[in-house]
Amino acid sequence: MSEILHIPVDRELSERARWLITLRWLTLTIAAAVVLLANHWLGNVLLAPALWGTLVGIAGYNILFWILFRRLERRASPHSSYVALMHAQVLTDLLALTTLLHFSGGLENPFSLYYVLLVLISSILMTKRASYLYATAATAIWVTLLVLEAIGWLPHYNLVGFRSPTRYQQPGHIIAESFVLGSANFIVAYLSSGIIERLREGEKQLYEANASCELRAAELSRLNARLQELDRTRSLFMRLVTHELRAPVAAIQSYLRLILDGYVPEERLHEIIAKAEQRARDQLELISDLLDLARLQEPKDEKEVEPTDLVAILHDVLDMMQARLQDKGLHLEVSLEPDIPPVAASKEHVKQVWINLISNAIKYTPSGGHITVMVECEGDMVRGAVKDTGIGISPEEQERIFDTFYRTEAAKTMERHGTGLGLAIVKGIMERYKGRVWVESQVGQGSTFYFEFPRA
Ligand code: ADP
Repeated sequence: MSEILHIPVDRELSERARWLITLRWLTLTIAAAVVLLANHWLGNVLLAPALWGTLVGIAGYNILFWILFRRLERRASPHSSYVALMHAQVLTDLLALTTLLHFSGGLENPFSLYYVLLVLISSILMTKRASYLYATAATAIWVTLLVLEAIGWLPHYNLVGFRSPTRYQQPGHIIAESFVLGSANFIVAYLSSGIIERLREGEKQLYEANASCELRAAELSRLNARLQELDRTRSLFMRLVTHELRAPVAAIQSYLRLILDGYVPEERLHEIIAKAEQRARDQLELISDLLDLARLQEPKDEKEVEPTDLVAILHDVLDMMQARLQDKGLHLEVSLEPDIPPVAASKEHVKQVWINLISNAIKYTPSGGHITVMVECEGDMVRGAVKDTGIGISPEEQERIFDTFYRTEAAKTMERHGTGLGLAIVKGIMERYKGRVWVESQVGQGSTFYFEFPRA
């Protein structure tokens, strides 16, 4: 029965079961009217008590089916329960129709053609297989009735004055009646189930097309929301960038104005020009960081990934930083595991990571402090760490320091110069190579920045 109705299966099937029950009330009313009229016009040819008894029986089982149906609905029963209910209904109807025909003349009764209606209903409501099944069942039950009546195993009730009383025993009539009804049953099963199946197929495709449209619409609206979010982030970024770019230029301009307007005495001239030069350097640093950040947004070129010696680059960077370390009176310790394998990343990017983390450690550690640099292997990754005894970062700020332009208040107080882009660049680099970066820190105690590159 799996192929019964694909769409929205349980709901539609429940509607069909309800429809069949309603249809039965209508048929019952018509059958009662037919019995009344036939007896009235044909002079009580029908066996009224047996027929009324059968009709009451049909009304009784229809009530029963209604109760069962309501129960299935209330319990939100599965698809198979509705299928079973449909089969029970059609089978009971077959038996009820046969009983009615038996008490109203059997072979003499032209209403035997109503079997065809039952086959039609089963092909509309169920599958192709079910409609053939009921075509066979209806033919078999009808032929059995005719044969049993003919051989006398079941009594025959003649429609007195309407049909010949011996007709039910004539083999020619029995064969003709069986053939007509049987062929009608199968033709109806064939035609109607074919049409219904095609209709259902169309309905299914429509449903699937609709469902896929809904899915796409949901996907589109998700993408749209993401686009809007990206747009907001972009606008915010642009506002921050223009603000950060304007500040040094405005400062340089006002220093120059002071000089041009003659407000700077001869002895302070050098100092003011040096300040302007420092702001120009800030500006260049910011532009260079912005360019680095923008380049990280570009798709990765496979050629940029190469086996890179993290330790060798660290030594180069430490050489570069030596003067700054000494100027600040900071103690440096380097702890390296032996035989560190190369990592899979561009040399340029590895260098940027070391420079950003070590120069931050220098910037945010007061004179006399300690900086420790470590490299070790961790499974498939090579881990680097920069530890300092500096100002530290609170847990809330730790979540934000990798955002663009974010600088903690303590950092701003300690060191005026800074773009707030260094850690965002480090994070971008680590994501580019499927590595990671994180921090452990305590305010006033110091910080340790860790990063991991995959081995080459
Ligand atoms: P910048 O150093 O230019 O301000 P970064 O992106 O490199 O920008 O760092 C972002 C912020 O993270 C810094 O402003 C500072 O508040 C905090 N930070 C980074 N490194 C350290 C560190 N070693 N110790 C304390 N704070 C740090």
